[in-house]
Amino acid sequence: MPPPKRSLCYCESCRKLRGDEAHRRRGEPPREYALPFGWCRFNLRVNPCLEAGTLTKKWHMAYHGSNVAAVRRVLDRGELGAGTASILSCRPLKGEPRVGFEEPGENCAPLREEQPPPVLLSPSLQYAGAESLASKVQFRDPKSQRTHQAQVAFQVCVRPGSYTPGPPSAALGEPSDPHFSPAELEWVTKEKGATLLYALLVRVE
Ligand SMILES: [Zn+2]
Repeated sequence: MPPPKRSLCYCESCRKLRGDEAHRRRGEPPREYALPFGWCRFNLRVNPCLEAGTLTKKWHMAYHGSNVAAVRRVLDRGELGAGTASILSCRPLKGEPRVGFEEPGENCAPLREEQPPPVLLSPSLQYAGAESLASKVQFRDPKSQRTHQAQVAFQVCVRPGSYTPGPPSAALGEPSDPHFSPAELEWVTKEKGATLLYALLVRVE
């Protein structure tokens, strides 16, 4: 398996310099996805057991809007899935005793038995990276004292046939990506192992 390609900045000037096309096709059968324009991409090391080289060519590319609080957990687990809220509500907060964690209470019990909640994906980062799907966090640059907003998302490979394309479920303030058919803008998968983490995307405004 070839080493992961280096991380790339997809800001306006960098992508123009490289002459990137806005869309590419990937997978069997091929399916179109947008390049992450406006974001910075950090490629993740793919599990070598999964023959990722083959997978990433045969699987489709998609994006999943995330939030800063969930990134660490997703990276630790190595996969998307399991709603952020339910996981967080079961974890002891920092400084709290870990009582009840080994023996989950009523609220935690369904985590293992219940079906994982569906994972929302999109071939468009304009859609997956919308604020309602990729929540913004504010931070202040200590040097410039300026306030910025940051968003995170994941780029994943998704197994063809494991997801259902459908219309957007998130209410967006602006029109969704006009390049893609609105009827197939949001891909939903409930299958375990349907996605493979490919890259972490960060946008700072
Ligand atoms: Zn750049």
